[in-house]
Amino acid sequence: MAASGKLASFRLPPLPTIGEVIKLFNLRAEKQLSQNFLLDLRLTDKIVRQAGNLRGAHVCEVGPGPGGITRSILNAGAADLLVVEKDTRFIPGLQLLSEAAPGKLRIVHGDILTYRMNRGFPSNISKAWEEDPPNLHIIGNLPFSVSTPLIIRWLANMADRTGPFAYGRTKLTLTFQKEVAERLTASTGSSQRSRLSVMAQYLCTVHSCFTIPGRAFVPKPEVDVGVVHFTPLARPQIQQPFKLVEKVVRNVFQFRRKYCRKGIELLFPEARRPALAEVMMREADVDPTLRPAELTLPQFRGLADAYAHLCSAEPGLLAYDFREELRLKHLRRKTGNTPEPPWLKSP
Ligand code: SAM
Repeated sequence: MAASGKLASFRLPPLPTIGEVIKLFNLRAEKQLSQNFLLDLRLTDKIVRQAGNLRGAHVCEVGPGPGGITRSILNAGAADLLVVEKDTRFIPGLQLLSEAAPGKLRIVHGDILTYRMNRGFPSNISKAWEEDPPNLHIIGNLPFSVSTPLIIRWLANMADRTGPFAYGRTKLTLTFQKEVAERLTASTGSSQRSRLSVMAQYLCTVHSCFTIPGRAFVPKPEVDVGVVHFTPLARPQIQQPFKLVEKVVRNVFQFRRKYCRKGIELLFPEARRPALAEVMMREADVDPTLRPAELTLPQFRGLADAYAHLCSAEPGLLAYDFREELRLKHLRRKTGNTPEPPWLKSP
């Protein structure tokens, strides 16, 4: 194979098929670990194409398993591919790939939920947040039980520019259970609109790429799978701390079918609930009789700004949690004695 220059086109040499690798290394899918493999390299090529042009790129693949997506990333011309795989059984098969792509594949045996990605790549690939994204991509087909908590964690990292986002606006191409993919991309007014839609869309451009039918996987999962692409926004649509935004959005969606007022009221201690909720909605210019799914991102921005404003006037408010108030009330009834709640303590 001709290799003139770093960016010369690269193809992996002939290798055993993914099905043969599975047999060779006895890689039975562990059902309790929700392992479902993609054996069709045309499909893994299609997933990898959603990430954009990978020629000369740095890539982190999460959960490579028997290596179908891994092969497609290497064939797409990535210069540096770091894979993070939790299950040791897959390491020898990945080493086979590493030998077929000398100097291109780095294998980490570890858990992506604890792996510190900010150390995985050279710092000179970093771009300032406002610039174009760095030439670093994250791609993966993980179990659904991992991909959903992981995207929530990565959204928090995005907000404070840590983890994979220490390099700038790193793009992600990930698979989710179809229903979660629909929630991530749902627009205002859609029946799938949820907390996850607002949290993802205030921070990124979220694009639903295509659906993979469950039958494309071995073994076949119960559900279809959605491929979703995320590009962090240079300027997030809400300029408040992630935790504050998360609290407002969680409360608004507390009662999906009721007026948004009902969830917003729960942000405040019982005694002053209607009055403070009224101030917040007036300041945000939000009609209290809208349903949570009908609120637009600018309206969520208005609510987060108004709530931040109220919290700055009364610092204990941010710590208020209606569940904690209920728990303390219950305790008081039982014992006649309770500690002072944190939101009433003087600063
Ligand atoms: N990407 C491969 C494919 O498409 O055929 C395998 C997909 S399988 C659904 C998920 C893979 O992620 C498995 O190889 C599993 O061992 C790995 N995995 C699961 N949890 C992980 C974690 N927390 N960190 C890293 N890898 C994980």
